[in-house]
Amino acid sequence: MRALVFGQRVSFVEAYPDIEVGDGECLVRVHLAGICATDLEIAKGYMGFAGVLGHEFVGTVESGPRDWRGRRVVSEINCPCRKCDLCQAGLANHCRERTVVGISGRDGCFADQVAVPAENLHAVPEGISDEEAVFVEPLAAAYQVVRQCSIEARSRVAVVGTGRLGLLVAQVLAATGCRLVAVGRNPATLLFCEKKQIQPVSTRELVARQDHDVVVECTGSPEGLKIALAMLRPRGTLVLKSTYAAAAALDLAPVVVNEINVLGSRCGPFPDALDALARRQIDVSAMVSRTFRLERGVEALEAARSPDHIKILLRINSP
Ligand SMILES: [Zn+2]
Ligand SMILES: [Zn+2]
Repeated sequence: MRALVFGQRVSFVEAYPDIEVGDGECLVRVHLAGICATDLEIAKGYMGFAGVLGHEFVGTVESGPRDWRGRRVVSEINCPCRKCDLCQAGLANHCRERTVVGISGRDGCFADQVAVPAENLHAVPEGISDEEAVFVEPLAAAYQVVRQCSIEARSRVAVVGTGRLGLLVAQVLAATGCRLVAVGRNPATLLFCEKKQIQPVSTRELVARQDHDVVVECTGSPEGLKIALAMLRPRGTLVLKSTYAAAAALDLAPVVVNEINVLGSRCGPFPDALDALARRQIDVSAMVSRTFRLERGVEALEAARSPDHIKILLRINSP
């Protein structure tokens, strides 16, 4: 099968070996896949991963348990052992033995087919297009923020970073009715926020006052973290959504002095994301900058690095 593979570097492979499908797994024919910051970090060596890249996708089940065959699906990416202490404690996303689609120990979805446990699948309702469904995984990650910290209408909240993930997080937060600002440097994505009635603030014009209850850091840069800390009130909550390939030199003194709550935040609830898309509460279509064919995957990853683009998709198979 065709695949976009990372070894020493990223390359398109015409004849990647067929996938072995494990017990209880489904083989999914991938229609459309999304490139996110994690893929770009992996391509720089984050996680020490080697294999087929990609974890955001929508496709059709080709083989596996009968009740799933032929259905259009999205898939959660953590594949837990169901046996370890963390799995037993209901923390399967943190399973000690887990593999993660396209990130750790398991081939990803930038290929004709991907194998995933049937229990990871969610059927996509007809009203949601492939172009929308491909956003379910990152949108679920955005919903994790509101699952982890309580946000009320009077809460002052900021999202730092108006890239792919930041725009999803900002839209999810806006739906809570909280007092929200989105801080970014890209005029195009700030304009996107404005159109969604989210108050945009250019990084250049920002006057940070330590007066926000919650700040969500979505830039993936040490500078973004610095801005986030400067905006947080004492005893406020800092939510970290970005992973870094390189260790950033962090000044943690403000965390101590201002008694900041630091909250790491990763994968989130798929049902919340599917429900929001079905109800047209979150606009993802306007975030797609370009769609490439899988053969041009290397070029697509390059495009995803450009600040001029928001979301880059890979068209892999027609539905
Ligand atoms: Zn992702
Ligand atoms: Zn486990």
